[in-house]
Amino acid sequence: MQFIDLITQKDRIRGAVMARLESIVDRAQFIMGAEVAELESQLAAFAGTRHCLSCSSGTDALLIALMAKGIGPGDAVLTTPFTFVATAEVVSLTGATPVFVDIDPVSFNIDPDGIADAVKEAEAKGLRPKALIPVDLFGLPADYDRLESVARNHGLWILEDACQGFGGALNGRKAGSFGLVGATSFFPAKPLGCWGDGGAIFTDDDELAELMISVRVHGGGADKYSNVRIGINGRLDAMQAAVLLEKLTIFDEELLLRDRVANAYSKRLAGRVQIPVVPEGYSSAWAQYSVLASDSAEREQLMAALQKEGIPSVIYYKIPLHLQGAYADLGYRAGDFPITEDISSRIFSLPMHPYLKESEIELVCSALLA
Ligand SMILES: *Cc1c(COP(=O)(O)O)cnc(C)c1O
Repeated sequence: MQFIDLITQKDRIRGAVMARLESIVDRAQFIMGAEVAELESQLAAFAGTRHCLSCSSGTDALLIALMAKGIGPGDAVLTTPFTFVATAEVVSLTGATPVFVDIDPVSFNIDPDGIADAVKEAEAKGLRPKALIPVDLFGLPADYDRLESVARNHGLWILEDACQGFGGALNGRKAGSFGLVGATSFFPAKPLGCWGDGGAIFTDDDELAELMISVRVHGGGADKYSNVRIGINGRLDAMQAAVLLEKLTIFDEELLLRDRVANAYSKRLAGRVQIPVVPEGYSSAWAQYSVLASDSAEREQLMAALQKEGIPSVIYYKIPLHLQGAYADLGYRAGDFPITEDISSRIFSLPMHPYLKESEIELVCSALLA
């Protein structure tokens, strides 16, 4: 059994993707080009934003947004310690300081009630709190209704890390569209993935979109060789755009199929482990289906039972960011974020992809229920 099956999906769209790739090869137009423009307009329509810029990865999508907003040394950017390292890494890359906020024990997303204290803590360290990066962890949008009002009260702008969330929604608003700017990833294992690295940035702000277009390609000005600010090489190539255009044609259907898998798991596993909660008004892109054991010993035992049946399972995330070696300089200690630390000691993720068969779901559940 595959943890994430990319082969079945590839077989579905192979012919159409290969036709697009051949056309790109024949035109030898590899960078940017027609496919990229077409993809950007389709993605903007999907997310419901005025602008979409494709780019080289989810990490670069986050970085471009921070650079365009002039985030740098002396600035504090608030985020969750329970995420993939890239969320905080981009803050450090700009020279700013990540300030962590503990998570909600049910959604695993940043707790809006922790933000006021983190702002005070940042100010006490002599930092200027500037921005907030909520993460749509495992595909579930963060609590943007509350986050937007808390952020406004503290003068913070929001960068949505939708690298796992694209395809999810909250009260009819799509992931990627929350906050001032949203970033997503098209890494192959994400809900919408390409055949390599890729990402996208979303915003309704015309001026910020222009700045991000400049940062994406070496801080370019009016013509190609005028450089008016420091930027990066953050382009998406035409071949990845072609793959994504074909994947978008089946994305809505795949989201429904992911929901089917999640519902089937939840129906059988409720009571055995703590199943993920999708609150009223939310829909998840189900980047992961993650459950909680009662403690780390039981997690070990459940993961071993799965492994015995040849079923892969993975821990996202075993070491929270505030306890990672790379962030030792920030001076955090074990115990600083008790909810994050508790969840990371008990959580594990089950196989999740649109093409998981009923018999496979059954196998996973019976291994856990045995
Ligand atoms: C995958 C991921 C990223 C980074 O995306 P890449 O395309 O791999 O650079 C950032 N944040 C989160 C939460 C992610 O899951």
